[in-house]
Amino acid sequence: MTVREALRYAEETLRSAGVPDARLDAEYLLAGVLDAPRLLVVASGETPLTSQRTEQFFDLVARRAGREPLQYILGSQPFMGCSFCVDERVLIPRQDTEVLCEQALLCAPEQGAVLDLCTGSGALAVVIKKALPDLRVYGSDISAGALCLARRNAAENGVSVEFREGDLFAPFAGMRFSMIVSNPPYIPTGDLSSLQEEVKREPSLALDGGADGLSFYRRIASQAPGYLERDGVLLLEIGCDQAEAVGGLLTAAGFSAPRVVRDLAGRDRVVTARLSGEEGHV
Ligand code: GLN
Repeated sequence: MTVREALRYAEETLRSAGVPDARLDAEYLLAGVLDAPRLLVVASGETPLTSQRTEQFFDLVARRAGREPLQYILGSQPFMGCSFCVDERVLIPRQDTEVLCEQALLCAPEQGAVLDLCTGSGALAVVIKKALPDLRVYGSDISAGALCLARRNAAENGVSVEFREGDLFAPFAGMRFSMIVSNPPYIPTGDLSSLQEEVKREPSLALDGGADGLSFYRRIASQAPGYLERDGVLLLEIGCDQAEAVGGLLTAAGFSAPRVVRDLAGRDRVVTARLSGEEGHV
């Protein structure tokens, strides 16, 4: 079987399974099997595939037809120009979250300590440390499995980040940070069952934001002042309809003038706020 024939068969299989972008995913999967750039694979349509490669490819196509996310099958996802290992233990880093990352890089102090809450694959923490190596960067997550991947991602990207296991701020008692960032779970529990099939394969622990989707923002807003330095900044990714509610929670917790940043699609995506007053209070 040639590359062209294999791709055509895979595309049809994926399309009839309801996979969005069936052709593109077929190309990425075959590129993964051949360990070659996708466009090179596409350009070698007449090349014959060995039966072993064909079998490997169709195994992956069958997984994708079962709506397993492409990134879990390939094992990695790019984020801010770095590559991150991903599997079913972590949320796949989203392009939306690059907005949070860019804002964090703009707001970051030159020195000091930065904390990434709900770090998951470690993508935010790793990119911040890579871009600003003089910062001390910490990350926490309640999932031991996620931290396993986060540590591997830091090592593979050549940076040193201190990851601690625990619920939000719990592993950092007594510490103060110049900047705290987080992409916490923010989907209302009742909406989880109507998510895209692929998203349902991601850990619900990383998505479920409680009845109204705001439960992590409530906890972060009330606890963050006890962990921020004077003039410290908090940056949160939000769902596109949560800006007002999250801004209100931050103001009530003593933060000043929350600022909303939109993503490339023009939707509200990030809220940033500084701690007002002389000192952080618990
Ligand atoms: N942006 C993700 C989604 O829509 C949700 C991420 C999160 O809950 N932090 O699937």
